[in-house]
Amino acid sequence: MVLAKLGGRITGTIKQMKNATIIDEKTLNDCLDEITRALLQYDVSFHLVKEMQTTIKKIVNLEDLAAGHNKRSIIEQAIFCELCKMLDPGKPAFAPNKANSSIVMFVGLQGAGKTTTCTKYVYYHQKKGYKPALVCANTFKAGAFDQLKQNATKAKIPFYGSYTEFDPVKIAVDGVDRFKKENCDLIIVDTSGRHKQKASLFEEMRQVAEATGYSLILKSSKPDLVIFVMDSTIGQAAFEQAQAFKQSVAVGVVIITKMDGHAKGGGALSAVAATKSPIIFIGTGEHMDEFQVFDAKPFVCRLLG
Ligand code: GDP
Repeated sequence: MVLAKLGGRITGTIKQMKNATIIDEKTLNDCLDEITRALLQYDVSFHLVKEMQTTIKKIVNLEDLAAGHNKRSIIEQAIFCELCKMLDPGKPAFAPNKANSSIVMFVGLQGAGKTTTCTKYVYYHQKKGYKPALVCANTFKAGAFDQLKQNATKAKIPFYGSYTEFDPVKIAVDGVDRFKKENCDLIIVDTSGRHKQKASLFEEMRQVAEATGYSLILKSSKPDLVIFVMDSTIGQAAFEQAQAFKQSVAVGVVIITKMDGHAKGGGALSAVAATKSPIIFIGTGEHMDEFQVFDAKPFVCRLLG
């Protein structure tokens, strides 16, 4: 599996460094160069990787480290911390506010886990005391309406969708307006995905984003938050995919799905770099409660594990 290789390569490089007889400038440089190569191959931005290298070299000043210091563990710790930092774009994630009704739009490729994740997100917030609702503006995927409706019914969440209306923009506007009238404070709109990053998908998504915000009641021009859902198993395609979404809609946060499988989640580094947005949750199974708040440290441990 391609994705396992990023973490594996970094771990292998750290191991090699730890097994070296002496830790000198050359050992450190070789180690950092190899990690840099691995990250660049995964399309993590050059700027980020360069910054990581410079910071580690600053932290690990071999000349100043007195004998007795465990240089190996200092280097390892510095690499770990910098990888955690790469998962933090330095931008706080939008948090829905119960006092102001928030509209959240989900985007992602078909099969990424968007519909499942919409329900998980809603269920999570329902438990926190929100009054959420789900709108199915995914008119492309056969069965999307039934899938979301079934999930909504199971979690006792109000749902809006249509078997007969095929215009996702109209469904989104009608659904948002209806739930605004019903005083729902968190309205989630699931949008269409496609197998490939097709221009038509992005145009449709952009139109839904515009129309969703331009609800008859709200009269604003954007959803409050666009969540990009990415499958953790996609590997090296992560950067290009995330960037394509970011270029079409204002992605604000990322959710990585299927972290219960074999994938180590290396694509997350690329997704953060491409969208400049934080990861907020990870999906860890098919069920509604298999959803965790994202935490960079255990994530990097797993990546390197
Ligand atoms: P969509 O086409 O993006 O809306 O994707 P779906 O929500 O229909 O999910 C596609 C498949 O992935 C379904 O079989 C889901 O049950 C499964 N899925 C979604 N999230 C997860 C996850 O976190 N872990 C696992 N194992 N499966 C997931």
